[in-house]
Amino acid sequence: MKWLVDRVTEDVSEQTFVGDRAWQATHLALNQVPGEPGLGDIEVSIAARALASNLYLDGSVAAESELTCSRCLARYCAPIREQFRLVLEPAGDRIPADPEGAAALEADGLCLSDELETGWFRGPEINLDRYVSEIVVLALPVQPVCREECRGLCPRCGVDQNQESCDCSEERPRSPFAALEKLRTKRGEPEGESR
Ligand SMILES: [Zn+2]
Ligand SMILES: [Zn+2]
Repeated sequence: MKWLVDRVTEDVSEQTFVGDRAWQATHLALNQVPGEPGLGDIEVSIAARALASNLYLDGSVAAESELTCSRCLARYCAPIREQFRLVLEPAGDRIPADPEGAAALEADGLCLSDELETGWFRGPEINLDRYVSEIVVLALPVQPVCREECRGLCPRCGVDQNQESCDCSEERPRSPFAALEKLRTKRGEPEGESR
């Protein structure tokens, strides 16, 4: 996903990219993401323009995703959508303080701030592979839930509480404060006796 800097002018120019399976295999370590999400083709569209030697990129990523519910562990499908805006300043002779940023500027012609909203560019071409892959990973939910009312698995016997019920719930203490309640009663007793 490369962009020739020369082609960016004051007029908005649009470009679309597709992050297919092959692209994802190279640029996205989805097996490192909890729940190992699966993704269909990622559609990336970007509108770019130059203004006072800065580059402004407005875009979006969209893909169908297959996620693992964090409550019941079922796989389910959900679309992911993310908008982004990136403002790039010419790096000139400046050198990024962190070695990673310096390496990225060298390799991709692009280095980004931590918030992924601003950065520097250098050279005739910027490569957005790394940036887009970070946007995609950020767009994936941290705690995916198959549906709002999912009841999840029983923490004791592991039964899927969406499908069947178990007797475990009756054995559970009524409230997490029940233990505290007991403690308070115990402490109260000797006090009463001493008076
Ligand atoms: Zn679920
Ligand atoms: Zn149970």
